[in-house]
Amino acid sequence: MNIILLGPPGAGKGTQSARLVEQYGMHQLSTGDMLRAAVKAKTPVGLEAKAVMERGELVSDEIVSALIDAELGAMAPATGAIFDGYPRTEPQARALDAILERHGRKLDHVIELEVDEDALVDRITGRFTCANCGAGYHDRYHLPKVDGVCDRCGGTEFKRRPDDNEETVRMRMQEYRAKTAPILPVYDARGIVSRVDGMASIEDVTKALDAIVS
Ligand code: ADP
Ligand code: ADP
Ligand code: ZN
Repeated sequence: MNIILLGPPGAGKGTQSARLVEQYGMHQLSTGDMLRAAVKAKTPVGLEAKAVMERGELVSDEIVSALIDAELGAMAPATGAIFDGYPRTEPQARALDAILERHGRKLDHVIELEVDEDALVDRITGRFTCANCGAGYHDRYHLPKVDGVCDRCGGTEFKRRPDDNEETVRMRMQEYRAKTAPILPVYDARGIVSRVDGMASIEDVTKALDAIVS
């Protein structure tokens, strides 16, 4: 099973990917996470991507497609893939077709999380993650069960992304509208797009995804 989760920043792609990983043992391929790891490790890719990400613009198609190709190549063929935050442009969508074919995989579902733009700034500016395991939380919509303690690993340190501020979010939303939304018709024509109400609760969105993938 190979699926793409598509939606603007804050739609819930990362949150739902983590649930699919837990439930079905699929593997999450998040170009955002890969790029943040590269920035942290100060690799050549990281050094090139850092300023672009801080502005909320898109990193080059070549860089992100190479990251996806490498990670997919390292996966066991039987493990399902969830593409989170990739592809984000038409060239990336074409690159993914070629990469999947090379690795003997085919795309099963493209799932679009539909959300109100007004809610996104609120979601993004309230987002934080566990510094130890990366579990995602929100100041109002998803707090740890015990205040200050990660549900998943018991960690007590949390962090926020430098690009999760209102100004950058607006740029990221603009990039989504201009460059990412136009790839949907291509998948629509193949009859593999499902649309899910991303404004529902986290639990209900998970149920809707379950109905599609199971
Ligand atoms: P994306 O990966 O699409 O950018 P995230 O999964 O990181 O989005 O979600 C953004 C923020 O919104 C996180 O803080 C998350 O806890 C919260 N969130 C995710 N899904 C929902 C939902 N259905 N309702 C309310 N808050 C949500
Ligand atoms: P979001 O919460 O907006 O979904 P991501 O973690 O997916 O955030 O991405 C963070 C940033 O990393 C983006 O604003 C962009 O600069 C870069 N990035 C991530 N994935 C891609 C991609 N597929 N193509 C180009 N840039 C990307
Ligand atoms: Zn944790």
